[in-house]
Amino acid sequence: PPRANETGNGHRVRVVARVRPFLAEEIQVSGNPGHDCTSISKGTEEDSLTISTETASSILEHGSSSRKPAIKLRISWLVRAKVCRCEEYKVDACYGEATDNAEVFANEVQPILQCLFEGRNATVFAYGATGSGKTHTMQGTETDPGLMYRAVKSIFKSATDHGCTVAISYYEVYMDRCYDLLETKNEVPVLEDHSGNIQFRGLAKIEIKSVEEFQALLAEGCARRRMGSTVLNDVSSRSHGVLAVTVTSRDATSHVLREAKLNLIDLAGNEDNRKTGSDGLRLAESSQINQSLFALSNVINALNANDARVPYRDSKLTRILRDSLGGTSRSVMVACLNPGSYSEAAKTLSLAARSR
Ligand code: ADP
Ligand code: MG
Repeated sequence: PPRANETGNGHRVRVVARVRPFLAEEIQVSGNPGHDCTSISKGTEEDSLTISTETASSILEHGSSSRKPAIKLRISWLVRAKVCRCEEYKVDACYGEATDNAEVFANEVQPILQCLFEGRNATVFAYGATGSGKTHTMQGTETDPGLMYRAVKSIFKSATDHGCTVAISYYEVYMDRCYDLLETKNEVPVLEDHSGNIQFRGLAKIEIKSVEEFQALLAEGCARRRMGSTVLNDVSSRSHGVLAVTVTSRDATSHVLREAKLNLIDLAGNEDNRKTGSDGLRLAESSQINQSLFALSNVINALNANDARVPYRDSKLTRILRDSLGGTSRSVMVACLNPGSYSEAAKTLSLAARSR
């Protein structure tokens, strides 16, 4: 199939991977950074990412430093025979620990923003397990702002130059329901007309007058996202956070108003079902999350295969995104990876690579 980045026809969803660095606290606990399960090899058309469980040599090293090396060595061999696994995945691009948000933005997001001024929609996803760097990628930090801030800053500048207006909505999808993250945290009913067009009843949509104003709104919205109904649980990792940026322009000749939308999405963590505890709410949550992420990967898969039927209706998330995925839209999925977890990386990559 043609590549979206080459042809711009939008059928293909770009799938890229981003491996975060080991964190200071991860290094402190063990005294060393641990085993980096990822290794990147750059290609011309695409990159490959190989993930592997700990290699024999590093296990042997651990073993030989103990007081009874012979016994340790034997055990190491048993462990190795049982668990050492290695898999290679192809992605459109792969970013390592030295990559900052500025680079991801410049390579992956800036190139698709132009389409908004042609009346075409776009979507950027951060996908991965909890702790893999999704929120870092989308929200970022003060010193390295994330894709949300960088995208809106760039759009706002072009919009001002072109005489367009920019408005934002920010909401989360939790257990198949939508909640506004601007102004209040009310539930927003989502309605669908006969042709499948989605309407959010009463969702706040705020016109941006300056980048500083946007920054303040985003910070408030992010704070609301963290305040869940229960104090103990990190709700943010179990909901999809969607920042929708609408650009409205007036056609130079016909003077008709034209809207285009960019969705920037911090997806819920794709946790292993077996790890999510046993209470009813958690189980219901994780099954909803898995279902919606699976539906999303099916949709992307169908789009990339140019299938006649794209299964948008399989979840609330994919219904909401129907107008911004496929057609002439441009999309990119950033699969985020924790270098210390082979099993999480395998789960994330198998779904992400399947989307290509
Ligand atoms: P997620 O949203 O996927 O649960 P976070 O974005 O919260 O994960 O990242 C988990 C931790 O890793 C945070 O402390 C975050 O600051 C850190 N982190 C993630 N990605 C990076 C990165 N590229 N560089 C430095 N620190 C990162
Ligand atoms: Mg997060």
